Formats: sequence, structure tokens, C-alpha cells
Amino acid sequence: MNTNKITIAIDGFSSTGKSTVAKQLAKHLGYIYVDSGAMYRAVTFYAMTNDFIDEDFFNVSGLISQLDDIKIRFVFNENLGFAEVYLNDTNIEREIRTLKVSGFVSKVAEISEVRSLLVKQQQQMGVNKGVVMDGRDIGTVVFTDAELKLFMTASAETRATRRFNELLERGDNVQYEDVLRNVEERDYIDTHREDSPLVMAEDAIKIDNSTLGIKAQFDIILDLVNKTLKKEKPSKK
Ligand code: C5P
Repeated sequence: MNTNKITIAIDGFSSTGKSTVAKQLAKHLGYIYVDSGAMYRAVTFYAMTNDFIDEDFFNVSGLISQLDDIKIRFVFNENLGFAEVYLNDTNIEREIRTLKVSGFVSKVAEISEVRSLLVKQQQQMGVNKGVVMDGRDIGTVVFTDAELKLFMTASAETRATRRFNELLERGDNVQYEDVLRNVEERDYIDTHREDSPLVMAEDAIKIDNSTLGIKAQFDIILDLVNKTLKKEKPSKK
């Protein structure tokens, strides 16, 4: 049996179901799942609660000067079956998923100092392989040598509907039009920024899940994982 562990990089637009399939894969394979977007959201939440960003201002240099104070950790929650995000010892998993954080996060993610700090931490989390990480630059910047790279897409309306339903289920009072606008705005900023824009890696496999159910998508991707594992040579040790 092949006991080699691989790195799985999943990139794509907002709300394309990256985290859903990443969690399924991590559970199935016994791998670590890292939601890199949660790290950008955590920095954004820090910026909001420390008055570095709001609707009408963004104190970029102030935020950069405080980056050393931002400690982000993932702590596995047995009941939920995935790791939650902590910022300086406070669980902020719920707080980082609001539409307000979504409204600012792409602006924070444009800052190179923020990116290089988080990329370093992400690379550290994957040194031993056996990791599934999702985000926007995982296959192009964080793990350029990942054995399997996926690029997820779906129409903006499909994605906004998914995110809208998630927010309603949490009990958030949101309008569909606002969610759609946020999805489109983030797509624009994420694909046009100077540092590490969202692009499909040349060696990534594109998955359009506009009309794919969760189970069908998982089966297709698991098949790709198994084929990749077969290609990898078992370790000689
Ligand atoms: O994945 P999620 O939608 O939670 O990511 C939130 C935002 O964080 C993205 O819209 C993007 O601006 C930023 N991000 C990034 N690079 C990553 C992950 C997320 O720039 N690797």
C-alpha cells in the first residue's frame, strides 16, 4: 500500500464549495485541513476591532505595524469535525463569517506584508505534507509543488445563492443582492490585485460545480486524489 502523503491545493473564486470538499477530503484521508481564507478573515477582524478599517477609512500602515501582535491558530473541534480559528486565544470562527468581514477582507488581502506573513505560516503547516489547503494562491504561491491542484469555479449567481443560504441558516439578516455584490466585488479584487492574484495554476485541474451536487463532486475529486496517490512512489524508508 502507498503510505505517501501528498499536498492538495484547492483554489478558486468565493463560495465555490472549496471548503466543503476540502473538509470531506481531509476527513476521508486523515489529512489536516487548512482554510487559508479564515486567516485573511482573522486579520481583517483584528483590523476592524482595532479601528484600522471601516467603510470610510483604512489605516494600512497602522495595521502593518501591529502584524506581530496577531497570532492565529487553528484548534480542532471534535464535535464539528474541523478546526476553528482563534485570534490571540479567542475563538472567532463565527465572527469572521459575517458579510461585514467579507466586505473588507479582499482589501486586507491585497497588502503584501499581510500576505507574506500568512503564506509563511501556511507553508509551515504543510511541511510534512498530508494537508488539504484551500484559498486563492495555494497552487500558485503557497505550495507550487503540490501533487494535486484543483481550481473550482461556478457561476456568480450559483455562488451567491449558496452563500446567501448559509448566512440565512446562521440567522444573519442579509439580502441576496448584497451577497451577490460582495461575491462579484471580491472576485474582481482577488483577480486584479498586484500581489498573488487569483489565477489558475498551469498544472491545476478545473472543476466547474455549477450543476454538481456535493456527493458527485466529492466522488470526482476523490478519484483524482487516488490517481495522484498511485502515481507517487512509496517512500523507501
Ligand atoms: O475563502 P474565503 O472566501 O473565506 O476567503 C476570504 C478572502 O480572503 C478572499 O476573498 C480573498 O480576498 C482572501 N484570500 C486570499 N488568499 C487566500 C485565501 C483567501 O487572498 N489564500
